[in-house]
Amino acid sequence: MPKPHVPKLAVWKFASCDGCQLSLLDCEDELLAIAGQIEIANFPEASSAIVKGPYDLSLVEGSITTPHDEERIHKIRKMSKYVITIGACATAGGIQALRNFKDVNEFISLVYARPHYISTLSKSTAIADHIEVDFELRGCPINKSQLLELISAFLHNRKPNIPNYSVCAECKRRGTICIMVSKGVTCMGPVTHAGCNALCPSYNRGCYSCFGPKETPNAASLSRWLLEQGVEKEELVRIFRGFNANAEPFRKESEYYEK
Ligand code: SF4
Ligand code: SF4
Ligand code: SF4
Repeated sequence: MPKPHVPKLAVWKFASCDGCQLSLLDCEDELLAIAGQIEIANFPEASSAIVKGPYDLSLVEGSITTPHDEERIHKIRKMSKYVITIGACATAGGIQALRNFKDVNEFISLVYARPHYISTLSKSTAIADHIEVDFELRGCPINKSQLLELISAFLHNRKPNIPNYSVCAECKRRGTICIMVSKGVTCMGPVTHAGCNALCPSYNRGCYSCFGPKETPNAASLSRWLLEQGVEKEELVRIFRGFNANAEPFRKESEYYEK
């Protein structure tokens, strides 16, 4: 009798801090439950044993920042049935995309004693700017329950159940009183993707959008509201330039108020 096909999972790293891969390693108990149903074939952070592709599912962490990255991501796409990007670096260019707003050559000359060894692109970009991506999982780092849901959904050919509403909806669901309305705290929750169960507002801190833009965020409306509350334009630029500075709705908003 032919052996049943065991889907092969690969995990790839580009410019990143490894935090999202660590979220996967942190799933060890849950992964045991699906061990046998998948083969972790290529995951250098976890094991030096590499099984050759093609792969059924590739998880990609990190942003594209070098000419070498640009070549490598196309090879990964070719050898993967599905590609899922994980985390703010992979879905928006990450904190390293702050370079996109400056002249990167100026940084290189300031930081490196021998700058002629540096080969880098002027921008840090999301994986989806280079190849077709099947799903983008937001967060810095990602939420491990959402990651497990995604892996399970793709391996069973079903639609993933990942909400695309805002952190505000999570605030309401857990019964947290809105700190922006009641205390005047600046909060990016209305434009931020759910996934953390509104962690920061529950500790009386404004959301700084580590989960990046929700689906169809109204960033201009949030800016207008914050200006009415006395927030300065320079502060608006700063709050949209966090981990997801290069995500289009946030990039546009920060550039508008930088003029
Ligand atoms: S998204 Fe955040 S946690 Fe994930 S790799 Fe990038 S910097 Fe690290
Ligand atoms: S505290 Fe922030 S996330 Fe929560 S409801 Fe208010 S604006 Fe939305
Ligand atoms: S910054 Fe926003 S998205 Fe990140 S954990 Fe806090 S509330 Fe959640």
